[in-house]
Amino acid sequence: MALLRRTIAQPVSIDWTSIPNPGEKCGPRILENGESCLSQPDLIGIFGGTFDPIHNGHINSVASLLDEFYFKTIYLLPSSTPPHRAPTFFTAEDRLKMVELAIENYARLKADDRESRSGVVSYTIDTLISFRSQFPDDSLAFIAGMDAFLQMPGWKRWQDYLHYAHIIVMQRPGYDPADDAWGQDCVTVDKAQILNSTAGRIYYADSMLVDISSTVIRKKLKAGQNLDSEIPGPVINYIRTKQLYAHT
Ligand code: ATP
Repeated sequence: MALLRRTIAQPVSIDWTSIPNPGEKCGPRILENGESCLSQPDLIGIFGGTFDPIHNGHINSVASLLDEFYFKTIYLLPSSTPPHRAPTFFTAEDRLKMVELAIENYARLKADDRESRSGVVSYTIDTLISFRSQFPDDSLAFIAGMDAFLQMPGWKRWQDYLHYAHIIVMQRPGYDPADDAWGQDCVTVDKAQILNSTAGRIYYADSMLVDISSTVIRKKLKAGQNLDSEIPGPVINYIRTKQLYAHT
């Protein structure tokens, strides 16, 4: 694997033997005779972010995972904007609305407001616990870009994530997997392990590479530059109609 090109939190030594073996609940999703395995757990995706604003990097990357993994649903969760934290460019309400508009043509992508409506800091661990309680028997996959994955050591109770979900890491231009990235013992190259078990594995997906970031989008918005190829049309219309580019 290539060397990481940007600064990241250093990996921390964890006792990975404490991660339970993912429950092998069922055989392959598609059996050798072509029939599907009905007792297979569903695969539910959890994709959190600030989405300030959502852009085609988020949408195209996550959409490319839908069929690669047979996701039943991937939930997109904009974070909240707690009063004591640095404000986001767009409000939590607007960020949620823009997520809804961005995914309106994708039946298996759904916006989820459990973080944005909370009004408190959104911690990934709390979101994972909430989803696990909602979907006790399904496979859960927390989806993150490579930059976010590499920064997880340092997030609240990050060592517990794999107890609740798998992690699927999406490629992101400028970020390569480091040889010493955390969780090496839990990495699998076998998709079946994600599909057939409920939690506990890390998979580096071969997702679409899209070189867009919200930071650059916000700069372009302030400069009045064209964003047609970087943000879904309905989101651009929303920003224009509500004149949200006037935010500072
Ligand atoms: P910012 O520039 O403000 O940091 P961002 O573009 O990184 O924003 P976030 O909302 O912070 O967007 O990211 C949410 C999740 O989406 C993170 O897991 C991040 O790694 C992932 N992500 C963002 N942009 C891309 C992209 N172009 N390709 C793949 N993953 C991405």
